[in-house]
Amino acid sequence: MVPAYKRILLKVSGEVLAGDQSFGIEPEFLQSVAKQIADAAKNGSQIAIVIGAGNIFRGMAVAANGTDRVTADLMGMLGTVINSLALSNAIARQGIKSKVFSALNMPSVADSFTARAAKAALDEGFVVVCAGGTGNPFFTTDTAAALKAIELDCDVLLKGTKVDGVYSADPKKDPNATRYDTISYDDVIGQNLKVMDTAAFALARDNGLPIIVYALDDEAGLAGVLAGTTRSTRVGL
Ligand code: UDP
Repeated sequence: MVPAYKRILLKVSGEVLAGDQSFGIEPEFLQSVAKQIADAAKNGSQIAIVIGAGNIFRGMAVAANGTDRVTADLMGMLGTVINSLALSNAIARQGIKSKVFSALNMPSVADSFTARAAKAALDEGFVVVCAGGTGNPFFTTDTAAALKAIELDCDVLLKGTKVDGVYSADPKKDPNATRYDTISYDDVIGQNLKVMDTAAFALARDNGLPIIVYALDDEAGLAGVLAGTTRSTRVGL
């Protein structure tokens, strides 16, 4: 089967990697995410990944305890490097080549990110893991995901998260919250629906990048999202 999207950018929230733990990486869940990714790669998709670090450090939370924000955000970005190394290695253990590119230069840890090198790796069949967010403080990995998706000419941004789409309100707090099948960029921004940050949605809107939000632990997994059978919300025009 020819995949619906040739090149995808998958954003994985750091906090989901913790699984049932409150901190860190849950090895079995990491491996199950890696297997979903490897299976999609075996099916012909070119896959780039951006991971957050909510399971390790979020700059805002660290800054709230007195650390200056720039330092705190660097700590957060380093957290994404840890997660990227773990996921890239887990993907390799599923028999698919994977390479980490970092927006923060650390040559003994990962290749430095350039769109040119990352696109070449995708064309060579590597799953590319983009570490270090945008490389700048005061940004998030959601924005990094939109940016990398555009820089790498991806056809779609998939946001794998804890919920199965975009809701009219927080489904954990409001029993009347309803899930959208599709929603426009302007509605998601205008209604301040918190599934990704506004900068990420604006970047996607201005560059015509569709976003699909789905639950990372859905049994049908990434394959189901790519086949259009997994419950999700499509954010687009
Ligand atoms: N971060 C940053 N610049 C970026 C991306 C991330 O400074 O371009 C820092 C920021 O402190 C953030 C942390 O890294 O809180 C982890 O990223 P994020 O909160 O997006 O992780 P997620 O919520 O997806 O787990």
